[in-house]
Amino acid sequence: MLNIKIFGIVQGVGFRPFVSRIAAACNITGSVANKGSYVEIFACGSGDALKNFLTALHEEAPPRSAILNVTVDELPDENFLRFEIVDSTHETGDIFVSPDIATCEKCAAELFDPNDRRYLHPFINCTACGPRLTILKNMPYDRERTSMNDFPMCDACAGEYFNPDSRRYDAQPICCNDCGPEVYLLGKNLRGHDAIKFVRKILVAGGIVAIKGIGGFHLACDAKNFSAVQRLRYSKTRPTKPFAVMFRDVAAVEQNCILSAAQKNFLDSPQKPIVLLQKISGGSIAENVAPDINRLGAMLPYTPLHMLLFKFPDALKNFPDALVMTSGNPSGVPITIDDDAIKNFGFCDAILSHGRKILLRADDSVIDFVGDCPSMIRRSRGYAPLPIFYDGSKKNSALAVGGELKNTFCLAKNNLLYASPYIGDVSDLRTVEVLKSSIERMSDLLEIAPEVVACDLHPRYHTTELAEEIAAALDVPLIKVQHHYAHVLSCLAENNFHGEVIGVVFDGTGYGDDGTIWGGEFFICDEQRYERAASISPFMQAGGDKSAREGWRIAAALINDFNLARELKLASDAELAGQKFLLDKKINCVTSTSVGRLFDATAAVLRICSVSSYEGEAAMKLQAAAERSTRELHRDFTTTDEIFSAILTRRLNGENIFDLAKFFHASLAELTANICAEVSCRTKIKTVALSGGVFQNSLLSSLTAEKLRRRGLNVLRNSMIPPNDGGICLGQAVHAISPAVR
Ligand code: ZN
Ligand code: ZN
Ligand code: FE
Repeated sequence: MLNIKIFGIVQGVGFRPFVSRIAAACNITGSVANKGSYVEIFACGSGDALKNFLTALHEEAPPRSAILNVTVDELPDENFLRFEIVDSTHETGDIFVSPDIATCEKCAAELFDPNDRRYLHPFINCTACGPRLTILKNMPYDRERTSMNDFPMCDACAGEYFNPDSRRYDAQPICCNDCGPEVYLLGKNLRGHDAIKFVRKILVAGGIVAIKGIGGFHLACDAKNFSAVQRLRYSKTRPTKPFAVMFRDVAAVEQNCILSAAQKNFLDSPQKPIVLLQKISGGSIAENVAPDINRLGAMLPYTPLHMLLFKFPDALKNFPDALVMTSGNPSGVPITIDDDAIKNFGFCDAILSHGRKILLRADDSVIDFVGDCPSMIRRSRGYAPLPIFYDGSKKNSALAVGGELKNTFCLAKNNLLYASPYIGDVSDLRTVEVLKSSIERMSDLLEIAPEVVACDLHPRYHTTELAEEIAAALDVPLIKVQHHYAHVLSCLAENNFHGEVIGVVFDGTGYGDDGTIWGGEFFICDEQRYERAASISPFMQAGGDKSAREGWRIAAALINDFNLARELKLASDAELAGQKFLLDKKINCVTSTSVGRLFDATAAVLRICSVSSYEGEAAMKLQAAAERSTRELHRDFTTTDEIFSAILTRRLNGENIFDLAKFFHASLAELTANICAEVSCRTKIKTVALSGGVFQNSLLSSLTAEKLRRRGLNVLRNSMIPPNDGGICLGQAVHAISPAVR
């Protein structure tokens, strides 16, 4: 008899019924049980039968499972009459919680089949799809430990739930029109299908609707209706930041965007993230959905309710095949998850809610591509809290609270790093509360009691304060990790790389060891220590918070010539004079090596963007401009100061701004590769890790990687972990659990 233990995502994905099916097919008797942290199998049969069984376990595993490790031990045979699924018992160990899974094709087909008993049921799901993390109270994953416990199964559903041949066998969120939750309108007396039909009418008429989804509310309107989109922008106080669009199907996406095979795979995957795609000229999405940007965030319907909104079989004509779907949150605060929505969304023409409680928020994940390689921008629904493996730090458990913007946190135990869903901007105190409660919920769920807490070095981050509080309450040490060093380590973690690297971090803002702003750093480092080997040319950031949004202020400092700044019309004379005053008198000034700000300044000089209304706007527009140039232009420079003044001179000579934008990207990449080659020559380190928010820029990222490889260096990049601040919790955790630190 074999005793097989399978570790990984094997809960809530139909793993036990799958094991029971292949056991029958292979003539195996025995049992399978869910142990909370793993699935345990006892298998009896002939030698060949056991061999086939083991092969099938690996090769035919359900699409949403992820086997991470299998142990097999031989035991003396026992007499089993058949193969059984044994009830869940809870044992402690590594815990794998499944993320939420988009509605599968079989469920989608039943949803629109008039003969199916779940016809038009907004919560149809099965063993292979539906909500998971967002409805889970604690482990193991069983119905009574989810928010579906509020909805006792009807006899028909129970029949399927307990029948090993059903595709809803052991499906915890199973429900139907008779026993499941209901959708309803807040503040209006409409429920079920009537509520859905009402909302469809409002959307066709150009209205705005708040819609409760899997991990929170969305705000929706017709993506092809300029004035509806404009009203949503006005109501949400979001003047220009791009909105994501949910398309009815892949065909509708392809009418508006260029979709590569790799992008399509992600777009239509069980995670159904938002994928950033190149717009097609002549597409029909309203220009103000993603103004002045050549790309669009696209996603597909991933819940039965989304599908019903697009395709409900009523007589309504002209329902749009594309809806703006943006996170439903008051500015700066995490996504709304309950019927408090009625307070937040007074400007909406309808609020469509439902009775299934959301226990943990999960925003939509966002993915970009660098060539065929995915580049995660926001890792949340569908991905969190899948762990990252990082071996070598065996026994320590840790909590890393992450950074201040785009916050996520990380819990670590036994070589596994569990990054949380997206929390948001923790500079708002209401978000701190959400961070705090999410940490409690995830620590409970994963049964991790941290032996160490890690946070950023910044003395005034709310996350630093919270980390101090938690470390004191738990009576464990607190470790502060420099922001950009944490970025490098997030890249090492994702690549499971150990040892010394040259870490290149191009970023917006981070607190440096010397109290100045860092963000253009070259480190020599490993998991335990780092040394700042070089940085870009320092400049003065004057004007406090405004200097992070208004690139002309950085440009003025870099030009350092008032008359020239006036000639370039960087800003009004009065503004320029004010900025000169601050710089001359060193008021509200701080030294900075932020590459993010260098992008802002360059975009300002090229008149591409001088004031950003959202983070990263100038850099996105500069990249878009560079991509319109077909020329391969760069020169060798030894400092970023030289690059900037060359651009200034050429700009004054009237050169094409697209070519200059390209020149900036290419020269910066060349400079970076040269510095790395020098450091490598001196230290014999052959591996370069690229991270930091600026490397979301796929043009800079691919140019830099290519130039590094040409110099014989290995390149590590972030892919499924964001290079931006959404990834630094992982780096903090890696440092906190590295043996020398503890
Ligand atoms: Zn399904
Ligand atoms: Zn039912
Ligand atoms: Fe950062």
